[in-house]
Amino acid sequence: MNEDYYELLGVSRDASQDQIKKAYRKLARTLHPDVNPDPDAAEKFKLVSQAYETLSNEEKRRMYDMGGGPGGMGGGGFGGFSDIFDMFTGGMGQRNAGPVPRTQRGGDLLQRVNVELADVIRGSEKTVRFTSAAVCPRCYGSCGEPDTKPVTCTVCKGQGHVQRVVQSLLGQMATVTVCSACQGHGDIIEHPCVECSGYGRVRDERELRVKIPAGAETGVRLRLRSEGEAGVAGGPSGDLFIEIHVERHPVFVREGDNLQTVLELPMTAAALGATITLETFDGPQEVVVPAGSQPGDEVRLRGLGVTGLSSGRRGDIRVSLKIVVPTKLNERQRELLSELATLRGEEKPESKVPEQGVFSWLRDKFNGR
Ligand SMILES: [Zn+2]
Ligand SMILES: [Zn+2]
Repeated sequence: MNEDYYELLGVSRDASQDQIKKAYRKLARTLHPDVNPDPDAAEKFKLVSQAYETLSNEEKRRMYDMGGGPGGMGGGGFGGFSDIFDMFTGGMGQRNAGPVPRTQRGGDLLQRVNVELADVIRGSEKTVRFTSAAVCPRCYGSCGEPDTKPVTCTVCKGQGHVQRVVQSLLGQMATVTVCSACQGHGDIIEHPCVECSGYGRVRDERELRVKIPAGAETGVRLRLRSEGEAGVAGGPSGDLFIEIHVERHPVFVREGDNLQTVLELPMTAAALGATITLETFDGPQEVVVPAGSQPGDEVRLRGLGVTGLSSGRRGDIRVSLKIVVPTKLNERQRELLSELATLRGEEKPESKVPEQGVFSWLRDKFNGR
């Protein structure tokens, strides 16, 4: 996610509801547009409010912790806002807060996309289908039925708040509270849109072509701005995050920008040398196995691996040789091998330690060399 909600509020990930509330209250006192005219502060206040909206709701908080993004359908709902507003005005005393707009930014979405190894060799495009919130096709986010307009609230006269004078021990005190007739919006939608019930957005199945960058690895997240949920009441859209998951390939295992594979070949081919055709992402390629190749030897096909995400250069294919000793010999084959052994003076092999020494041989074996 672009903003960490816990960081925004300055609380730890295991903060209690009480701590979260206190932290938000403190920030709101310095960032609220009524106190701080700086537009940066207003932007921050919006983010902080969004963070509070999510973290103060156990359900939404759990979703967020699981990486499901801050949104979810209705996640941007205005449900908790009047509480916050009450709390805020309560804390601030008689501040003169204007009407609260209905609009709110849509939630961010996180969508996992499975791609094949072939897709990230040079990069590709994928169609992603997902459910999101879209601008209501009937009211276009105005929340009211077509050809109707919100009417100014008669209780607060469009102010969004009402002032009451109460007698207290300290004398007369004016308190400002959110207008309950219009929930602080200053106007009332008398005829809510029947399609979206007055939220200005509806659930929608979407389809999007997404560019998969060359060299992307599992876990890489792409951010598509404004492709997330539509905002409430015509507010700006959230972002869409695409998390890439590269599926396993039956032949090639990725190691950075290189691809590794194993080629099985008979003992005779290893001794005599051979040229073997390997199907790669660049079509069939010749793997030249030199005469006298040993088990575990490697043949490299340069520049046929994965394109580096930042370097733009392609890695190699590394072919490890697995040399197979024949197990089922018929009479004739046994004869020929025995003859070969005799010719090479190998009929009676003696106990012999590898030239490089036992220790370093075993060490190399465990290191996979
Ligand atoms: Zn509508
Ligand atoms: Zn009102």
